[in-house]
Amino acid sequence: MTFSTILFDLFDTLVRFDRNRLPEVQIDGKGVRSTAGHLFPVLAPHAPGVDLPRFFEALIWSWQEAERLRAADYREVGAPERFALLFSRLGLDPGRIPADVLDALLSTHKRHLSQAAELPPEHLALIIRLAPRYRLGIVSNFDYAPTAHWILERERAAGLFQAVVVSADVGWRKPKPAIFEAAFQRLGIGPADALFVGDRADIDVVGAKAVGMAVAWLNPGGEAVPPGLPEPEYELKSLVELERILAPGEPGPDPSASPAYLIQ
Ligand SMILES: [Mg+2]
Repeated sequence: MTFSTILFDLFDTLVRFDRNRLPEVQIDGKGVRSTAGHLFPVLAPHAPGVDLPRFFEALIWSWQEAERLRAADYREVGAPERFALLFSRLGLDPGRIPADVLDALLSTHKRHLSQAAELPPEHLALIIRLAPRYRLGIVSNFDYAPTAHWILERERAAGLFQAVVVSADVGWRKPKPAIFEAAFQRLGIGPADALFVGDRADIDVVGAKAVGMAVAWLNPGGEAVPPGLPEPEYELKSLVELERILAPGEPGPDPSASPAYLIQ
């Protein structure tokens, strides 16, 4: 198969997220990794009587509730909507939280979350090598697009992608066809032109196959395809193996090209 375009999942495919790089906060005498310790002081002046443990409980609840809603029909519950769930949980009227407070919560969350994400140097080197030969894009399930864009900018990778499509902007999450179709539209391509690369069999493989795209499943643990899910065209142990798929049968280094002093 030949492709003009490679579309990547973002988290746990291109970018690694390390929870241990989130700030630590003490909740009931126990250290936990969370942005809560930085978010709480932003909201506290508007939430009289709410202490940090109660705020933390509501924050966790809002994440779980957002996940429950997303699982129902793959509609994205964006970060502003998730904060509205948090406000309601704390007995606050979301309509009465000033817009600048919501903005400050969003930017605080973005700052600390993005610090826990990194683009490994070997992944950056890979996309630099691929960029002259393929159109590259990203299709990501993420609830706040500015964080995804900021991570790519900080890692000096943003300019290598012709399209960065985030579920928070589209309104639908993978495996829903709409988010893949948004990427096709942005790039002016059809599904047969692109290879999708992602780490989740139930999201990336299922979604890409459903719209007619070939998929490379990033499966470092060598897991079996879960029952009932479609088989991907390719499996990768690591992202850098992608080049092997894209150039099958390409000759390796030519021994005759070795410097003379090595073959004497
Ligand atoms: Mg992923």
